[in-house]
Order: sequence, then structure tokens, then C-alpha cells
Amino acid sequence: MDDLFEIRRTATKGCGVFAKKAISSYTIIVRESPVIALKCAPGDTAAKIDASIEQAFRNLSKKDQASELQLHEGSHPNAKTKVTRIFHANGFGNEHVKELYLTKSRFNHSCVPNAFAYEDGESSYLQAIRQIAPGEEITISYLPRFEEAMTSRQRATVLHLHYKFECRCAACWPPHQRWKSDVRRQLIGFLSYALEGENAPDFRPLDICHPLSWVCWPPQPTPSGRVLTPAQEIEYNFLLANLREAEGWPDYLVAEGYLHAATKLAFQQSEYQQSPATQDIVFLEAARCIEAWYQKGLELEKKFYPPAHPQIRDGTMAWENTMSRFRCLQYLRMTNSLKARDEHGPSESGGNFAVRIQEGDGTLTLLSQEDTAGLIWQRVKRL
Ligand SMILES: [Zn+2]
Repeated sequence: MDDLFEIRRTATKGCGVFAKKAISSYTIIVRESPVIALKCAPGDTAAKIDASIEQAFRNLSKKDQASELQLHEGSHPNAKTKVTRIFHANGFGNEHVKELYLTKSRFNHSCVPNAFAYEDGESSYLQAIRQIAPGEEITISYLPRFEEAMTSRQRATVLHLHYKFECRCAACWPPHQRWKSDVRRQLIGFLSYALEGENAPDFRPLDICHPLSWVCWPPQPTPSGRVLTPAQEIEYNFLLANLREAEGWPDYLVAEGYLHAATKLAFQQSEYQQSPATQDIVFLEAARCIEAWYQKGLELEKKFYPPAHPQIRDGTMAWENTMSRFRCLQYLRMTNSLKARDEHGPSESGGNFAVRIQEGDGTLTLLSQEDTAGLIWQRVKRL
């Protein structure tokens, strides 16, 4: 893996890690074990944790000590020594375990990162989440997940407080352009948390520069108590995919939004096939959206995952299942003449709005919006 990157000094932010060659999405860039791993108990005081950090540092080899002392020192407000400041600025983990990695800690932050750090219980990994060009800096986010929902001002407050630097990534710089990104990220925060039945954490206190306690971070979402309607779930997923795409978010996350929107719309349409009033009617706009969103999601997943990845196989199978369950999609594929006649879409003069599929021989009849409404109304009256 060492042949993938090199550590170089940068003009403005100390050292950084740069790609030595093109790195494709999904590549594992780093796999390593922590040089220090501290187990913590819920009642441990900051002083006790810092004493453990000092002891663990003394137990390291001279070589590892020298490497650790080259890491960014940061400015943890309560850390009293260089070793503890380095640990707090570069450490990973949670309330149960705190770990320090010598290689992973060399990667700088970006609010539009091209790599993602994670652990599997044995090792820690850093993986490319997009194509990385030769010479490009490899970056991770120091605000995992939250960066997606915070404005540049809010991110700047946390990054300054905890790491003492000003981010100059594409989402933060130049200042006069970042309002668009700020608006998109606030919407992304609302939509992504709403889809999980939560309110996004309240980041507004971070808009005001004032000394914040270390324990304020990370903020927690709260249960929203709202249940989204099926239509909202479709719209939220579609909007989320569009906003993430505009914000330069990785292909797999954008794909997720399109695929969820397509699946949920397909499910909603399948319910129409259960109703006597609409069981033989296929709404063309919905069919077009299901097809377009599925294709877009699969295309993006193919850009992200290697060809043999199970995600590609499962996604393709899910699409084939949808095709088999929705007669509309099969018919639209099979009948090129129908597509040709329908290429201009609905029009004021009553263009094609739906297709009626005759029971038995499967004859197709194109219906305008008016015809469709009339047919459904007649049937509803008879029910
Ligand atoms: Zn940034």
C-alpha cells in the first residue's frame, strides 16, 4: 500500500498525504493496527485518561515515539502536555476505547473528503470513496457524518476549537461561494435525519463564536416522532440524491438516494395493481421515474464498486425483480412503437398519461389524463 501515497509538506497546512498514482474508488489505502489502544470506563476522569496516554507513550519503542511526536499537536483545551495534545488531536475511538494510529493520523481533513476511515474490530482501514488522481491530496473528514449537515461557519467553529486550523476545501473556500453549499447541507441534514425518524442535531450554537466545552461534541440527534408518508419518503430520497450529487458527495451515497426513491415508488405503484379501480392501469410518469432512478443508481454504483462486488449483483437482481413485478416496465421495454409514440410525454391536448393493459391478451391502450380520471371515476362509482 505504501506505493499508493507519499507524505509531503504543504505550503499552508503542514504535512499532507498525496496519491503517487491514480487510485480507484473502493481501494483500501491503509490497513493498520493502533500504536496505542486505551480501554476507558464511563466514569473515567480526563486526568485519568491523560495519565494512561502518558504511560502508553512511555511504553512505545523509540521509533514509534519519534513518529508520534511528528503528528499535529492540535489545541485540546484541557490537555496539559504535548503527548496528550497530540493524542487528542489525532486519536480515534469512542467512550469505551481510544486509539492512536501513526499512518491514518497523517491524513488531513476535508469537508468533501475522498477517503473514509473505519475499523472492523481488528484493524483500521482508510478507503477511497471516489477516484483519486495522481498528485491529489488524500483527505478524510474529522467530523464524520456531521460535516454533511453543518454549514461552513459551524464546521469552522469545531475545527478551530478542536484542531486549530481553517479549512480551505472546495466547500469552505472561497467564502463568497459557500452559501450555496451551506443551504444544500442544511437541507441534506433535515432530509437525511427525517428519513431516520430523527431531528438533526441543533448545530446553531456553533454559529456564534464562543468557547464551547469539549463535552458539547459530538451532538446527538433527537427522535422526531413524525412518520413520513410514502410520498414524502419518495420525495425526500430523490431530493437527497440530487443535493448530495450537487455537493460532490461520493457515488455510492448518491446512488443510495436514487435506488431508495425508485424502490419506494415501485412499491407504491404495486399497490395500485391490487386495487380494482386501477389494477390494469400503469401510470407512465411513475414508470419512467422508476426506470430512470434505478438506472441512474445502478450506473453510480458501478462507478463506485468493483464489478464483482455483491452490491452490484444485488442491485441488478433487485432491478430485475422490479421489472418482473411491474408489467408496465416490461411493456415499455418490449413495445418500442409505444415509446416512439409517447416520446413527447403528456401534453395539453391530452397526451399519454397512462397505459391500460387488457386482461387476457395484454393489448395496450394509451390513455390521456382525462381518460384515466374518467375510467377510474366510473369504476369507483361501481364499487
Ligand atoms: Zn472544508
